Amino acid sequence: MENQLNLDYQYPVVEMFHSIQGEGFYSGENSFFIRLAGCDVYCPWCDQKETWSIKKYPLLTVENIKNKLTNINTKHIIITGGEPLLHDLLPLTKTLKNLGYKTHL
Ligand code: SF4
Repeated sequence: MENQLNLDYQYPVVEMFHSIQGEGFYSGENSFFIRLAGCDVYCPWCDQKETWSIKKYPLLTVENIKNKLTNINTKHIIITGGEPLLHDLLPLTKTLKNLGYKTHL
C-alpha cells in the first residue's frame, strides 16, 4: 500500500529524461530514465564517472520524483546510475508499481 511507504525517502538524482531503451529485451521502447548518483564499483571503463559521488547532486524524495512523472508518455521507467542498488529502492519502486509503471533497473 502506497500510504505505508516512506515517501520522504531521499535519492540523489543526477538527471531524469525521456529516451529510447538501447539495450536488452525492451530495446527500442520509449522509456523514462531516472539516473541516481553513487557507485562503489569504480569500473575503469565507466562512462558515468560523474555519477560516483552522491554529494554533487540534489536529494529528491519519492514524492518529488512522483510529481515529475505527470507528463511522461510511457509506462516504462528505467532506474540507472551509478549503481542504483546502493540505495533502498523499495519506496520508489513500490510507488512506481502502484502508479502502474513497469520499472527496470
Ligand atoms: S556506474 Fe556502472 S560502469 Fe560505472 S563504475 Fe559504477 S558499476 Fe561500473
